[in-house]
Amino acid sequence: KETSTKESSLAKIKVVVRKRPLNKKELSRKEDDIVTVNDNAYLTVHEPKLKVDLTAYVEKHEFCFDAVLDEHVTNDEVYRVTVEPIIPTIFQRTKATCFAYGQTGSGKTYTMQPLPLRAAEDLVRLLHQPTYRNQRFKLWLSYFEIYGGKLFDLLSDRRKLCMREDGRQQVCIVGLQEFEVSDVQIVKEYIERGNAARSTGSTGANEESSRSHAILQLAIKKHSEIKESKRHNDGNESKGAKVIGKISFIDLAGSERGADTTDNDRQTRIEGAEINKSLLALKECIRALDNDQIHIPFRGSKLTEVLRDSFVGNSRTVMISCISPNAGSCEHTLNTLRYADRVK
Ligand code: ADP
Ligand code: MG
Repeated sequence: KETSTKESSLAKIKVVVRKRPLNKKELSRKEDDIVTVNDNAYLTVHEPKLKVDLTAYVEKHEFCFDAVLDEHVTNDEVYRVTVEPIIPTIFQRTKATCFAYGQTGSGKTYTMQPLPLRAAEDLVRLLHQPTYRNQRFKLWLSYFEIYGGKLFDLLSDRRKLCMREDGRQQVCIVGLQEFEVSDVQIVKEYIERGNAARSTGSTGANEESSRSHAILQLAIKKHSEIKESKRHNDGNESKGAKVIGKISFIDLAGSERGADTTDNDRQTRIEGAEINKSLLALKECIRALDNDQIHIPFRGSKLTEVLRDSFVGNSRTVMISCISPNAGSCEHTLNTLRYADRVK
């Protein structure tokens, strides 16, 4: 039995699994649905196997997580379970991250897309409440991508970005455009613009985007009066404001891409190695965080370096592991669940 249980509701780290429904293609091939969700926390994978004499049998694998969401769960419910509880903490100096992990086609993008919009809605609503109204808090948005170990700004024509560390070990992405967003419609427009700029090649959108990590950040910043008046001088008001808290939404590269390290194509191999490195480093960082380790091994990859400031101090992490239910995905599904299990 492959389980491990840990207190969940207010934990720093929450691991949620989401199973998608069988798609048309899988249904037409009459593929079996091999994942059963037993209740809100348990699931079983029925792995089809063959004995040496070729008789078929099923090996059962049971897992337990903070929450398991079956194929009937809506995106709204996903939001309520994963991100909604964190939103108020953003105003209390929390840096939160929400990851979608899983093989290509398992529903990462489907799951992640609506979350920042819902979060922005709630953050904007809180901004206008009496407690915060007079604090000069504002909401800022940025959206970038890590592809082959390099950073690209999705909101400024895929401009290549680099990272710098200041003396106090704060990471700063040089040149990353941040936009103040005062209402949800504007947030929606930026998200759509960024999505359109994600890596897409001749091989099709999903193919290429499966090799990149997309990172959308919403930050609550406090603006000082002085900066407010100097605004037109430096052109970027955001720089003068202090980050109160933030939440990062990360649509990770397809987990199976990390295995592309023996591919015939050199570029694919390099990218595969980079993805493998970043997903391993991510797991190590979350584990270190969970064990309250002082040393967080964020230097392991570009992804974890970029997220460095979210791995220290008041941090919250939600990992949404997306799985495909079809028999043909069994190996990938087990890999995803084992990864999620290790993170806890
Ligand atoms: P990934 O980003 O992990 O590669 P996608 O999010 O693109 O996967 O999902 C693959 C396909 O499955 C898409 O067509 C998507 O609309 C569909 N899909 C994913 N999850 C669900 C779900 N929970 N319910 C219905 N359709 C889904
Ligand atoms: Mg995707």
